[in-house]
Amino acid sequence: MKKHNFYAGPSILPEFTKGKTAEAVTNFAGTGLSVMEVSHRSKEFVAVMSEAQALIKELLQVPDGYSVLFLQGGASTQFLMVPYNLMGKKSAYLNTGSWASKAIKEAKLFGDVVEVASSKDANFNYIPKDYVVPADADYFHITSNNTIYGTELLSDPDVGIPLVADMSSDILSRPIDVAKYNLIYAGAQKNLGPSGATVVIVKDEALGKVDRPIPTMLNYKTHIDKESMFNTPATLPIFACLQTLRWLKENGGVEAMEKTNIEKAALLYNELDRNKLFVPTVTDPNDRSRMNVTFVMAPEYTELEKDFLDFATAKGMVGIKGHRSVGGFRASIYNAMPAESVKALVEAMQDFEKNK
Ligand SMILES: *Cc1c(COP(=O)(O)O)cnc(C)c1O
Repeated sequence: MKKHNFYAGPSILPEFTKGKTAEAVTNFAGTGLSVMEVSHRSKEFVAVMSEAQALIKELLQVPDGYSVLFLQGGASTQFLMVPYNLMGKKSAYLNTGSWASKAIKEAKLFGDVVEVASSKDANFNYIPKDYVVPADADYFHITSNNTIYGTELLSDPDVGIPLVADMSSDILSRPIDVAKYNLIYAGAQKNLGPSGATVVIVKDEALGKVDRPIPTMLNYKTHIDKESMFNTPATLPIFACLQTLRWLKENGGVEAMEKTNIEKAALLYNELDRNKLFVPTVTDPNDRSRMNVTFVMAPEYTELEKDFLDFATAKGMVGIKGHRSVGGFRASIYNAMPAESVKALVEAMQDFEKNK
């Protein structure tokens, strides 16, 4: 039976990425060796790294004066590297969920952190709107897509100071205005590749302004100077990321992704708004994530939750159980998710409703 992969991360990848990576596991770039057993300094791997960095710049129209890095340690390491490198005395954060809260916790180790607003009062089911960002903060940190709660900031906010964003779960899903950011980071395992690689896009000018000593491995300058090869990079994951980037370019880039992502999300949200058995957890349509669609059973049908999970599982749906902090269901519909799988889930919801 066809499996429809709705896991939140690690998550679905294009067939193209999996096929090319499988080939390279046995014969990488005609070397007769595996991509796993070739030096990161070989000309073949250096070419992979350069092309991956160049494609990120091209696809996101990254202006001059920015560097693209492939690091390790996941988005969670960026929670501390960002303030270590970019925060003098003060920074500002928008608290839109548990990833944002974790980023705030780390930043507090380095100085004065202003939490400008939080949606914790409603279990993070909306994006706070009316807040004031202190003009003397070094940056304003946002989590553009809240993977667990199903909310997304669909435009780059104008707040008068540079932005920093955790885009782990929506990078490359739509165009962004990189010029507004001092730094963007994303763990690869949601929209790009397997876990093990982290993409960082950093404005060179924003670095070198803090007084504290920074350990070599945690200093962005180290990785810029050594072209992401100061230590051994995650070669296999980066190879896979490159395949996804090629696939993205071949399929029309981020503008085309945005268009299909809007259509896929609409299929699901329209059904959630129509079907009497289910309710979406994010009520304001402007805040609804196009990447992670979270929903629960309607109050009068809560006892059917397990039945629906079993019903959908029998129809090939995988990974739709909601995160424990929200409950219910979550359908992660990243770039690589075909519309057919979203339709299959919608049909399962309709069939389940008819049988009740
Ligand atoms: C998954 C996720 C993280 C955690 O990433 P790691 O690579 O596991 O550290 C952080 N932020 C967001 C928004 C995520 O979706």
